[in-house]
Amino acid sequence: MHAADTRRAAYTLTLRSPRVRYGRGTARTDLPAELDRIGARRIMLVATARAAGGHDDVLSPVADRIAGHVSDVRRHVPAEVVRSATALTRDIDTDCLLAIGGGSATGTAKAVAVETGLPIVALPTTYAGSEQTPVYGITENGVKRTARSAQALPQTVLLDPDLSVGLPAEIARASAANALAHAATGVFAANHSPLTDLLAAEAVRLLGRGLQEMDREDLTQGGHLAGTVLAHAGSSAHHSVCHILGGAFDLPHAETHAALLPHTLAYLQEEQLDRAAALGLPDAAAAVANLLDGVRLPEASLGQATELLAPVMDPTRAAQLLNEAW
Ligand code: NAD
Repeated sequence: MHAADTRRAAYTLTLRSPRVRYGRGTARTDLPAELDRIGARRIMLVATARAAGGHDDVLSPVADRIAGHVSDVRRHVPAEVVRSATALTRDIDTDCLLAIGGGSATGTAKAVAVETGLPIVALPTTYAGSEQTPVYGITENGVKRTARSAQALPQTVLLDPDLSVGLPAEIARASAANALAHAATGVFAANHSPLTDLLAAEAVRLLGRGLQEMDREDLTQGGHLAGTVLAHAGSSAHHSVCHILGGAFDLPHAETHAALLPHTLAYLQEEQLDRAAALGLPDAAAAVANLLDGVRLPEASLGQATELLAPVMDPTRAAQLLNEAW
């Protein structure tokens, strides 16, 4: 069945995406002009020291505009990091945040943008797709809270497959699986629409091909579409399961998505076969399981995990899903 064959009773859709410049070498060649375009003269760089050093070729053409550097970029964006980065940004009097790195660097820039009202120019080096969404998360006392703000959506994204060439294969695979999760489960999300269904199907196709050949162009474009699906369709039970288990057992973000996706997708597919058809695959869960073969979650208490999933699915189904994923 084609995406157009699925029916929606009602939906609301307002497209809000950053300006995206895609192309090999774009980050190296187009960053100064893109900064000029938004009048950015005093930049706060948001990147780990490693990411900043590793992308010297991208940053050196704008070195004279870098007024400060937030290098304390950490997983799950701790609140204390946001507070000190915000204070530094205000002290230095900057007019733009330039994020270079994965979802953690983008997420840090988003939280600072919401506090300061500054625009973000994002140069993603993974396929997580956070730069396409207005959603941001901050972790305090072990609890990660997410919110939406138009201010968190980057103004400009330079989407350059060359930026992820140095990404180790294992991280690249997990990050692509994270994007695949945004796309494949997007058709089950509350705000899915014919447009997001089409984007989801194309993202799954590109990411599937990209994962088989580790093709950086397919993975970058697939990550772009998958992030757009997440931004406009929203998340599904898959994200709730990852969020609950990730928080409870401190699991790594991308790997958790990768290990759980074949099983959560099988569950969603069983529940809503008509929506699964939008992905244009006879059995999306089986196709994804094939692509992500062998990714398992680290050991944890199955009994406790089953209980934690009670708000999302019935205990028998949760126990079965967890047995398969662990
Ligand atoms: P990440 O930014 O933590 O990067 C993963 C690892 O890869 C890190 O160790 C990083 O240093 C390394 N790395 C990144 N780029 C590299 C490169 N080019 N070469 C070598 N190493 C590199 O993680 P991620 O998977 O990119 O993103 C996950 C985070 O993003 C999570 O916190 C998640 O919640 C968030 N996220 C948010 C949204 C959203 O819409 N808000 C969407 C997707 C992901």
